[in-house]
Amino acid sequence: MRSLNWKLNGALLLIVIIAVALMAFLTNLSTTSEFRQYVSAGNMMFTQSLANSLVDFYSDKGSWDDLQQSIESLPVSNSQRIIVADSSGRIVGDSSGEWLGEEIADLGLSNGTAIVISGDTTGMLFVLTSGGTGRGHMGGMGSQMTSVSEATEEDFLDEVNNSLWKVGLITAAVALVIGLILTRQITRPVKALINGARRLSKGELSYRVKVRSGDEIGELADSFNSMAATLEQVEQSRRQLTADIAHELRTPLTIIKGTVEGILDDVFKADSEHLNSIKEQTLLLTHLINDLRDISLAESGQLTLNLQPADIVDLVKRVITGFEPNAGEKNIRLDLSSAMESLEMELDPVRMEQVISNLLRNAIRHTPEGGSITVSISEVDDKLSLSVSDTGEGIEPEDLAHVFERFYRSGTSRSRKEGGTGLGLAIVKQMVEAHGGAVSVESTLGKGSTFIISLPVPEE
Ligand code: ADP
Repeated sequence: MRSLNWKLNGALLLIVIIAVALMAFLTNLSTTSEFRQYVSAGNMMFTQSLANSLVDFYSDKGSWDDLQQSIESLPVSNSQRIIVADSSGRIVGDSSGEWLGEEIADLGLSNGTAIVISGDTTGMLFVLTSGGTGRGHMGGMGSQMTSVSEATEEDFLDEVNNSLWKVGLITAAVALVIGLILTRQITRPVKALINGARRLSKGELSYRVKVRSGDEIGELADSFNSMAATLEQVEQSRRQLTADIAHELRTPLTIIKGTVEGILDDVFKADSEHLNSIKEQTLLLTHLINDLRDISLAESGQLTLNLQPADIVDLVKRVITGFEPNAGEKNIRLDLSSAMESLEMELDPVRMEQVISNLLRNAIRHTPEGGSITVSISEVDDKLSLSVSDTGEGIEPEDLAHVFERFYRSGTSRSRKEGGTGLGLAIVKQMVEAHGGAVSVESTLGKGSTFIISLPVPEE
C-alpha cells in the first residue's frame, strides 16, 4: 500500500524538481541571449577602439613599419591575440609574434575589421581568443581560436547553471524537510482515526479519538466521536432493554412455574384460585409481549398508523364508558369535560384508544378509593389539548422526567404490586408522537397528576 505520506512527499518533490528544471531552462535561455548581446557589444567597442588606434598609427607613420613593437607593448591577455594585416593581406602585426609575414588567406582568417583612412583600406584587424570550446578552428595551425566573447560567455553561463542547480538542490532538500513535517501533521490524525475505527469495530465503543485540529480532519474526528457516542448509547440501551425484558418475564414465569409445581407435588389443589393465578400471569405475559412489540415497532419507525377521519370526542367517551366498571370498583368518579360536542380528526382510532386507555388505567391504579378522574378536551393555540387529571398520589419530582421511559417505575410502583409493565407511558409517548403530537405531565405529590396530550388540529 502506498501511504499518504509517500504520495504527498512524492508530489511535493516532483513539483520542486519540475519548478527548478523549468527555472534553470528559462533562466539559461534568457541569460544566454542577454549575455551574448552584452559581450558582443563590449567586444565591438574593444575592436573599434583598437582600429581607431591603428588608424592614428598609420596616419602618423604613413606605413605599418614598427607596428609589431607597438602591438607587443599592448596590454593583451594570454588568451587574446591581436593580428593586423596590411592591404595586401600580409600579417604585419601579431601580439604573439608567431604569424608575422604570413598571408591571412593561408591562415583562413576572414571577417576582420577594415582599417580605413581617407576611403582607402590600409589594413585589417583581427581580435582572436584561444582555448574554450574549439569553435573557430584555424586549419593546420595547431591552435584553436574563438572570438573574444565565446569563451567568457561559456564560463559565465556554466557558472550560472551551476548556481541554479545548487539552488535547486537546496530548495528540494528544504521542500522535502517541510513536506515531511507537513505530511506528518496530516497523516498523524488520519492514523489516529484509522486506529479509532479499528478499535470501534472490535467492540471498544467507549474509545474516542483525540484530534484537536480545527480543519476538516478535526471535523471528521468530531463526527467520528459523536458516531461512537451514539453507537455506545444504542448498545447500552439494547443491553438495558434485554435485561429489562428478562427481568419482566422472570416474575410471572416464576409464579406460573411455582404454582404448577405446587399442584403437581400436591402442595396446592388444582382449584380455581390457583388456576386463576396462572391465567392472570399468562395474561400479564401476553400484555407485556404486545406492549414490547408496539414499542419496538414505534422506536424503529415501523409503526404504520391506519389514519382515518374520526370524532375524537366520541372516541374519548367510548373509552371512558369502557373504564366505568373499573372506576366504580374503587368508587372513583370518572368525568368528561369537553369544550366541543364533536371534533373530526385524522387519526388511528385503535392506537388513540390505546393511548387514552393507558392514561385512564394508570389514573385509576394510582387514585385511592373515593377520588375522581377528569378527562378534558379543549382547543389551545390551534392544537387539541386532551388531559387526564386525577386526585391520586402524585409523582415524585425526580421521577417526573423519567415516567415516559420504558420500564421506568416511580417510587411506590417499583414493587410491581400494581401489576403494570412499565411500558404504558412509553407507548403513549410513541403513539402520540407518531400522530405528530406531544405528551407532558404535571403532578403535585399527594394531590394528583395531569397528563396532557397535544395534537395538531386539521385546518378548516
Ligand atoms: P406502569 O405499567 O408501571 O404503570 P407506565 O409506563 O404506565 O408503567 O408508568 C410509569 C410509572 O409512572 C408508573 O410506574 C407510575 O409510578 C407512574 N405513573 C403513571 N401514571 C401515574 C399517575 N396517574 N399517578 C401517579 N403515578 C403515575
